[in-house]
Amino acid sequence: MSKGIEIIDVGGVNCYLIEADDDFVLIDTGFSTKRMFLDEVLKKAINKPGEVPKKLKLVILTHGDSDHAGNCKFLKENYGAKIAMHFEDSKMVENGDMSWNRKSKPDKISFTFRLVTLAFGKNSAFGTFKPDIYLQEGQNLSKFGLSAKVIHLPGHSKGSIGVLTNEGDLFCGDLIYNFAGFKYIDNLEDFNKSIDKLKKLDINILYPGHGKPFSISNFYRKVNKK
Ligand SMILES: [Zn+2]
Repeated sequence: MSKGIEIIDVGGVNCYLIEADDDFVLIDTGFSTKRMFLDEVLKKAINKPGEVPKKLKLVILTHGDSDHAGNCKFLKENYGAKIAMHFEDSKMVENGDMSWNRKSKPDKISFTFRLVTLAFGKNSAFGTFKPDIYLQEGQNLSKFGLSAKVIHLPGHSKGSIGVLTNEGDLFCGDLIYNFAGFKYIDNLEDFNKSIDKLKKLDINILYPGHGKPFSISNFYRKVNKK
């Protein structure tokens, strides 16, 4: 794993805290039910004893699902962080409706995912909010202190994105899971195109929304076996 990346497991959802110049950027925010835990870990990470206190200046959402966006409102209000995401998922978080812009019958859904959705879906304490920044394909993130760009990777949702660093780290959200029995593909055609798109990019390590980071060669080995 590259230097300057900390994984925070917020109730089974990976949030990635990344050093960005003098401040921090967080990719995804986890379940709202684990808010106190996230708050504690973040405070420790950005206010190290003996060091100048830092800021969480930006949150990037890989997509709008409540298990990833569950603490955005809190981080906006308590940390002053701006929230950036793709426009095509924005009404999910504005309305608290995870079915927005998705098919009524997704192309692929696992049983486990159904259970998770039932448990944490519409009835969770999801705080709706309006994103501050809309991200799009190819957008350079250097003005936020990240040597990285945005890759639009629809499939799990229309507005799913990845963040690809110059070192070849790809934060891929829920396009690819490293977690058995937990899959949701809204649009299989988009999904396949997104997977093809990865092949043209310089990627070393995949950082999924669920499960441990893994090398992309492992991923292709698995895909080719199927
Ligand atoms: Zn997820």
